[in-house]
Amino acid sequence: MSAVVSVCRSCGAGPLRVLLDLGLQPLANNLLSLDDLAKPEPVFPLRLAVCDACWLLQITDIIPPVTLFSEYVYFSSFSDAMLRHAAEAVAGYQRDQALGAGSLVIEIASNDGYLLRNFVAAGIPCLGIEPARNIAEVARRQGVETLCRFFGRGLAEELVLAGRSADLILGNNVFAHAPDPNDFVAGLATLLRPRGRIVLEFPYACDLVEHVEFDTIYHEHVFYFTLTALRPLFERHGLTLMDVSRLPIHGGSLRLTAARRGEHEVQPAVAMLLGEEAGKGVGSPRYYEAFARRVQDIRADLRRMLGELKSLDRSIAAYGASAKGSTLLNYCGLGRETLDFVADRSTAKHGRLTPGRHLPIVPATELARRRPDYALLLTWNFADEILAQQQVYREAGGKFILPIPQVRVIESAK
Ligand code: ZN
Repeated sequence: MSAVVSVCRSCGAGPLRVLLDLGLQPLANNLLSLDDLAKPEPVFPLRLAVCDACWLLQITDIIPPVTLFSEYVYFSSFSDAMLRHAAEAVAGYQRDQALGAGSLVIEIASNDGYLLRNFVAAGIPCLGIEPARNIAEVARRQGVETLCRFFGRGLAEELVLAGRSADLILGNNVFAHAPDPNDFVAGLATLLRPRGRIVLEFPYACDLVEHVEFDTIYHEHVFYFTLTALRPLFERHGLTLMDVSRLPIHGGSLRLTAARRGEHEVQPAVAMLLGEEAGKGVGSPRYYEAFARRVQDIRADLRRMLGELKSLDRSIAAYGASAKGSTLLNYCGLGRETLDFVADRSTAKHGRLTPGRHLPIVPATELARRRPDYALLLTWNFADEILAQQQVYREAGGKFILPIPQVRVIESAK
């Protein structure tokens, strides 16, 4: 069911240099019900590789998107930080681009409409594209027009024929999921009105490498982008990188603005970040090989710490039944012998089991009620928010363990 790719999916050069083998992994968002335990759970190799020609980081084993995204349990609206980030971003676009009743904003992977809702409220026409049927339905019920489709050149051509080209195309955390980046970027170029802009947000590969965020690697994330690797991809389709900024969200992301070549002034931030990446050695294998060694060190440190706590009869749970948690638990070999349960705020996940390791998922309030001595924080990217929400647990003596960028304990708030 998976296809092994040995040449770069952007530039076609090969063979790819394999950097890190995370073993056989289940699909990271495929939470199980108790009934599912009677069936075999599919697992696939998860390996990270880099292209020596354009330096694009990519996984080698591609799972068809239909398997991955037709039903999806990640609802963006469950995170306060995401909602705040969305409202601020929309206010910024309105200000910078003079959008109005004659404009069209299209968002790719619009999820439950948490971002486009802000445009609807401002009277700016918008359209969401969301392949997960259950989530598209939630968006529609909230008044956000949503197409239940995968994005690519084909869909872009259909929309243009229907008179629906865009002044602003948004894509948050979707670009890295599209298995054919040339088809995706060609689709952007097709859909864009001549003076329009494309704004994409995605995890930044330099943050992944430098902060050892190996758990953001899973089958849905086919690519891990640096600006160095993106420039030739956009230029191949007649687009120019206009502006770039770094965001703290999801462990470090880029917000990239692109436009048709020659339509807008290129901001100095683009050349600055390209220069910074060159200085770090993004265009050399050494940069990536050091990362792979640090990942192996985290696994060893985490297994050692949790093993010592168990030998002292300490109880340990986890917080955050996220996709990144699945990669970490499966790569580090942590299951019910070590962790009692996973607490999570998302009601859609309660009563289900984590992929591969089958830890039961319970409401976040269970942490304060059952008071394990330690809670391994799998959603460390929302650490500030979660530590504040879990003040009662922390005041009762609960300690959090942060696995990344290095394993450490956050003492209780007593
Ligand atoms: Zn390449």
